[in-house]
Amino acid sequence: HGDDIIVDALSGDVIINPNEDDLKVYTDKRNKFLQDKEELKKMNDKEAITTDGHRVQLWANIGGTKDIAGVLRNGADGVGLYRTEFLFMDNDRLPTEEEQFYAYKEVAESLGGKPVTIRTMDIGGDKALPYMKLPHEENPFLGYRALRVCLDRKDMFKTQLRALLRASAFGQVKIMFPMVIDLNEVRATKALLEECKAELRAEGISFDEHIKIGIMIETPAAAFRAKHFAEEVDFFSIGTNDLTQYTLAVDRGNEAISRLYDTYNPAVLEAIRLSIEGAHAAGITISMCGEFAGDEEATELLLGLGLDAFSMSASSIPKIKKNVIASSYADSKVLATEAMALRTAAEIKERIKKA
Ligand code: PEP
Ligand code: MG
Repeated sequence: HGDDIIVDALSGDVIINPNEDDLKVYTDKRNKFLQDKEELKKMNDKEAITTDGHRVQLWANIGGTKDIAGVLRNGADGVGLYRTEFLFMDNDRLPTEEEQFYAYKEVAESLGGKPVTIRTMDIGGDKALPYMKLPHEENPFLGYRALRVCLDRKDMFKTQLRALLRASAFGQVKIMFPMVIDLNEVRATKALLEECKAELRAEGISFDEHIKIGIMIETPAAAFRAKHFAEEVDFFSIGTNDLTQYTLAVDRGNEAISRLYDTYNPAVLEAIRLSIEGAHAAGITISMCGEFAGDEEATELLLGLGLDAFSMSASSIPKIKKNVIASSYADSKVLATEAMALRTAAEIKERIKKA
C-alpha cells in the first residue's frame, strides 16, 4: 500500500515507514552484512583445518537437487544430510523406484566425486504424508515415524533402498537411517539392504558393493548405547534437533517452551560427548547434521569434543570454516574439557565466550 518497509532478516524485525535514523542504521547494517559476505567468499577455496593441523569435513544439508548449486557455491566438502522426505511430500503418491533413482543419481553425479549421505525417509512427527493415511496420533513425535514406518512397510522401504543402491554406482553415496533406538532396528534394516543387493546382483544391475551405512544419533537411547551401535555401522551423524527434543522432553516446535529448548543444556552435550566417544572407540567417524553444527558459538566446543564432520545449511559453511581455521585443536580440547565440567547451559555459554 505504498509503505516503506525494512525487513531485518537476521533478527526477524520489521519496521514500517522507517524514519531517517532507522534508514541510516539499516543501510549501514546491510552494507556491513554484504561486506562480510564478500569477505567470507575467500573461504571457499580453503580447507577446514585448524591452526595446529587438524582437518575436519564441512558438509551441507540439502532437501533435493535444487540445493546443489548452493553446496558447490559455498565450498562444501560434500553433503552430510540429504533429507529425502521432500521427494515423498511433494507428491500425491509414493515416488517410484525410477523416480527416486534419478533424483539420487542426479545429486550423486552433480557432486563430482564428493560424498553424499542420503537419509532414508523420515516421515511422521512434524512431516505428514496425507496419501499414506497414517493414523492420527496424540504424540506424533513419539509415534509412528521414520524407520518405524519403513520397517513395517517393507515394500515401500525396499523401493527406496534399491533406488539408493542403484544411485551408488554414480557417485560416493552413503545411506543413513533416522530415529534409531534399538540394535534390532539396525540389524533388520541391514538384512533388508542385503536382500536388495542380492536382487540387484541377480538382475545384473550395478551398485557400490562397499557402500557405507550409518545411523543418526537423535534419541537418548542411541546416544547411551553409542559404542554398541558403532560396532555395527560405518558412521554416525548426530541429529541435535531431535536429540535436544528427546533428551530434554521439550517439543522442538512448541513456542511456549522454546526457551527450554537448548542444545547447550549439559545433558544434551553429554549425549553428544557419549556419541563421539562411542564412535571413536569403535573406530568409526561421526558427524553432526542438526542445527547445532552451524552454530557459530559451538564450533570450538564441538571440535574439542572430537567431532569429525559438521553438516549444515550450505550458507553457514563459510562462517564455520572461518571459525575452524582460526581455532587451535589443542585449545579447543581444553575448552571442551572445562565446559563439560560446568553445571548449567549459562555457565557453558559464558566459558565459550571467554575462549
Ligand atoms: C535432527 O533431528 O537433528 C535432524 C538433522 O533431522 P531432522 O531435523 O530432519 O529431524
Ligand atoms: Mg531428526
